[in-house]
Amino acid sequence: MSDIEKIHCLIIGSGPAGYTAAIYAARANMHPVMYTGMQPGGQLTTTTDVENFPGYPDGVDGNAMMMDLKIQSERVGAEVRFGTASKVEFDKDGGTHKVWIDEEKEIHAETVIISTGATAKYLGLDNEQKILANGGGVSACAVCDGFFYKGKETIIVGAGDSACEEALYLANLCPTVHMLVRKPEGGMRASKIMVDRVIAKDNIKVYWSTETVDVLGDGVVTGAKVRNNVTGEEQDIAADGFFVAIGHVPNTGFLDGQITTDADGYITTELSSTRTNVSGVFACGDVQDRIYRQAVTAAGTGCMSALDAERYLSEKLSTVEVA
Ligand code: NDP
Repeated sequence: MSDIEKIHCLIIGSGPAGYTAAIYAARANMHPVMYTGMQPGGQLTTTTDVENFPGYPDGVDGNAMMMDLKIQSERVGAEVRFGTASKVEFDKDGGTHKVWIDEEKEIHAETVIISTGATAKYLGLDNEQKILANGGGVSACAVCDGFFYKGKETIIVGAGDSACEEALYLANLCPTVHMLVRKPEGGMRASKIMVDRVIAKDNIKVYWSTETVDVLGDGVVTGAKVRNNVTGEEQDIAADGFFVAIGHVPNTGFLDGQITTDADGYITTELSSTRTNVSGVFACGDVQDRIYRQAVTAAGTGCMSALDAERYLSEKLSTVEVA
């Protein structure tokens, strides 16, 4: 039997965007209910130290920061629950939106804030995954973790705009950045200006037609074994950090096409707001941001989404009262 609950504000996803939305929505008396998803706290719980979030002079452990955000959200009145949104039925005319949690519980919400984030892609190699789980030097975010490799050798995989941006970022910290590109020379997917910058940078060494056989190291990165996919030749590259920049997947599958997204699945929001194409449904954080992808920018759009939802709700309630 379906269990139905009626609420003003539902927040789906529990990264910095979702928690910031929860804090603002709770303080605006919207009684928000958040469902955390399978990975409460989101991507930051897979990082060790977060040193670039303002307000933490000594840095902060990613898990500890997300726990603080949860405590802060609950202290101001948000209800945080474990569960995953499995299906939605949005009312295109801005009525009540239905969301199912774990295919069982049915929530009827006046406003919905989607903050389900994006998942970084990894190569899926055995030792890459082991070291990633161990926090031993595999990362998908150079801006987050590059600083820990200052003065050390690093490897980066990928050839899109993200990989180029991250390689250039690392090149300002590391003596050599070894960039592994699986296509032959000239085959980088990134925009020409980014490719030109990478090629012009003395300490980025590009390995064309090169794929990773696996990351090397026992719990901690010591390098990577790579193979030239034209000649079949293998070699080991020594390094302390292994960065993967082969794209992200926004977590929007459960929306089943009911919200407008771009070709890659990122939710499209109206300029300078977090409004989606459905009235009463808002999106914040990495699920709608393919450019910045930072905890602090996610928190900023989380705040915006709660303010947008609060304005929407007060206009809607005043219209209902007048009618
Ligand atoms: P992209 O999808 O553009 O590029 C992914 C890259 O990873 C490709 O070069 C691809 O290689 C490579 N790759 C994928 N799988 C593997 C694998 N298994 N092994 C090795 N290499 C692999 O992702 P990005 O994250 O770079 O960019 C996503 C979008 O965001 C793009 O539209 C980009 O322009 C945009 N963006 C814009 C920025 C800006 O404007 N400042 C900054 C960052 C991103 P291959 O080409 O061989 O398939």
